[in-house]
Amino acid sequence: MDDYPRTVMEFERRFATEEACRAYLVRLRWPEGVQCPRCHQRKVWAITRGRYECARCGVHIFVLAGTIFQDTKQPLRLWFRAMWYMTSQKSGISALGVQRALGLGSYRTAWTWLHKLRAAMVQPGRERLAGEVEVDETYLGGPRPGKRGRGAAGKTLVVVVAQGEGRRIGRIRLRRVPDASAKTLEGAVQATVDPGSVVRTDGLQSYSQLTARGYVHEVVRKEAAVGDNLLPRVNRVVALFKRWLLGVHQGAVRPQHLDAYLDEFTFRFNRRTSRWRGKLFYRLVQQAVCVAPVRTRDLLPSAAER
Ligand SMILES: [Zn+2]
Repeated sequence: MDDYPRTVMEFERRFATEEACRAYLVRLRWPEGVQCPRCHQRKVWAITRGRYECARCGVHIFVLAGTIFQDTKQPLRLWFRAMWYMTSQKSGISALGVQRALGLGSYRTAWTWLHKLRAAMVQPGRERLAGEVEVDETYLGGPRPGKRGRGAAGKTLVVVVAQGEGRRIGRIRLRRVPDASAKTLEGAVQATVDPGSVVRTDGLQSYSQLTARGYVHEVVRKEAAVGDNLLPRVNRVVALFKRWLLGVHQGAVRPQHLDAYLDEFTFRFNRRTSRWRGKLFYRLVQQAVCVAPVRTRDLLPSAAER
C-alpha cells in the first residue's frame, strides 16, 4: 500500500515538522525497518535526530547520508514542499516558480534543488518496455528559437521509444545518444525494449539488424533521414517534449543538462494518468532516498562553458 497525501491539506497536516518528514524518509528508505549498511542487522538504536546506531557493530547510520538530501542545510520541510510543488503541478515548475513559492533566497538554490530532484526521477533499475513500440531519433535542445542557420550545432541526438497501448501511447523512454550508428541505436533499443517485442522504425540502415537481435522489426517506410519522423507516437512525444521545455523552462537548456529534463519529462509522461498527484510525490521521495546525491558543483557550468 503506497502511503501518500491525497490533497494539499493532507500534505500540510502531515509534514508540518522536521520529525514527520524524517520519519517518512526513514519509512521509504527502509520499508522493513532501519538496516545497518555494514552488517545488515536490523536491530538499531535511535541516538539523535536523524542518526541511528547499529546494535551489533556500532556503526552510525545517518538517515540522509547517500540520499539527495545529504549535506543539506535547509529544513526537510522546505524540501518536502519543493517535491510537492514539483509533482502536484501537471507540467512541473520552473526554478523561478520554486524560488517564489518557497521563498528561497537565491535562484541558484532553487535551480540546484530542481536538478537534484530530477536525478531522482530516473527509477533505478527500471524495466524495459515490451509489446509494440515505435523507435526513432531526433535532435533536441540547442540554441533558443531565433538563432538560425547552424543546423544541428549545439543540439543533441535523442532516441525516443514509445510503447503502443491500443491507439494511445503507453510508456516512453528518452535516451541521449552520441550518434546514429547501428551500434549506438541498437544499443539504445536493447537497453529500453525487451527482446521479442515488435519494434517499428523507419528505414534507417542503423536499425537493419534488429531482427538478428531478437526483435520483430517492422519498417514503416523505406527512405529515411536522421531526425525525419513519420511514426505518430514518437512524433507526438517529441512535440510534447519540445512544448514542455519551452512552456515550463523557456527552452533554455544546456546540452549537459538535457538528460535531466528528459528524465523529468519521462517521469511525468509515464504517470500522466495517475489519479492522485500524491502518488508522484511518493515515487519521487522513494527514489530520492535511494539515488546517490548529486554534487552541486557537478550541476553548475564550469568556467570554460560560461
Ligand atoms: Zn552493523
